[in-house]
Amino acid sequence: MTLREGGRARQLPSTGLDDRFERQLRDLRISVTDRCNFRCVYCMPKEIFGRDYVFLERDELLSFPEIVRLARIGTRLGVRKLRITGGEPLLRKGIEELIAELAELRTPDGARLDIALTTNASALPVKAEALKAAGLQRVTVSLDSLDEERFQAINDVRFPLARVFRGIEAAESAGLGPVKINAVLKRGVNDHEIVSLAEHFRGTGRILRFIEFMDVGASNDWKLDEVVPSAEVVRTVNEVHPLEPLGATSPGETAKRWRYRDGMGEIGVISSVTDAFCGSCTRARVSADGRLFTCLFADTGFDLRSVLRSGADDAEVAAALTGVWRARDDRYSELRAALTARGAGRERIEMSYIGG
Ligand code: SAM
Ligand code: SF4
Ligand code: SF4
Repeated sequence: MTLREGGRARQLPSTGLDDRFERQLRDLRISVTDRCNFRCVYCMPKEIFGRDYVFLERDELLSFPEIVRLARIGTRLGVRKLRITGGEPLLRKGIEELIAELAELRTPDGARLDIALTTNASALPVKAEALKAAGLQRVTVSLDSLDEERFQAINDVRFPLARVFRGIEAAESAGLGPVKINAVLKRGVNDHEIVSLAEHFRGTGRILRFIEFMDVGASNDWKLDEVVPSAEVVRTVNEVHPLEPLGATSPGETAKRWRYRDGMGEIGVISSVTDAFCGSCTRARVSADGRLFTCLFADTGFDLRSVLRSGADDAEVAAALTGVWRARDDRYSELRAALTARGAGRERIEMSYIGG
């Protein structure tokens, strides 16, 4: 494949791009802001993300043309899925215009990209229609509790449950379904809600996914005994509503899927801690200020923004991306036990900076 920009042409790999473990670059998760209107206690605790916290300035953020250019080049290198995230991605002004431009991109075979967005749903009632019209296909909504008091204690800004449900309904009526619901479980906080969460979404067409609490960042005071293993989640739901395993819908899928035997839908479990899926990890992440991370647990990212702003042509940007991906040997979750023992206090990026 040849990339042409500014009159120059260079060769690019025509097939996918392998890292050191032969994992191909397939998914790009793009964080469009590091800001959020929630202060979820496990993600942006107020003590750290308070009034004095210094968020990125506007000119530090990748602009929409920069994001689109990066996604276009990524597409030539094998990217097939885009996930827009944050912070809270719907806080980024004009987000629907960005989606519209990303939706115009095509793979080398002329196919559309799969474009999804992860959100706390607070702005969906006002944005869902415009996002759908712009070409967004699906949304994932984060919702960790069905108990009003607990939900507000988790988001820590008194955001009411009813408004999240209004957002979910708005997404569905706009055609952004089936909506996936992400629930992060934390021992002693919401693990007793496993069955009630499952029952609430059973038979609704909304797909609930339970996520193991992860040791991302350095602000959430993570402890292994606060993780609720997915095996326990499946066992708990199965005791009440029998489940059977379902195959993955796409390679590199993070969730293991289980179907209710009585045909009332499915749940997913994302076992980043107890059942690492690094072997099939095809994801790269770009932070809002244009750093490329090849692992959610990385401590440093490659400064793509400088490359984009240096006057580099597309082939040069592609070469930078290619170099980083080819050198990739991340498998943090597989090595977690050993690394945690050795690397106490090691710097790590925050989830609100890099997205999910
Ligand atoms: N603000 C949006 C939202 O909450 O959906 C998008 C960004 S948020 C960082 C993406 C996802 O990361 C959310 O589903 C959130 O629950 C999850 N998350 C944040 N911190 C986490 C942690 N320590 N372990 C597991 N999931 C986490
Ligand atoms: Fe905001 Fe999402 Fe983090 Fe909650 S999980 S603080 S909604 S970025
Ligand atoms: Fe991918 Fe890193 Fe998570 Fe492993 S730990 S699945 S390499 S992001």
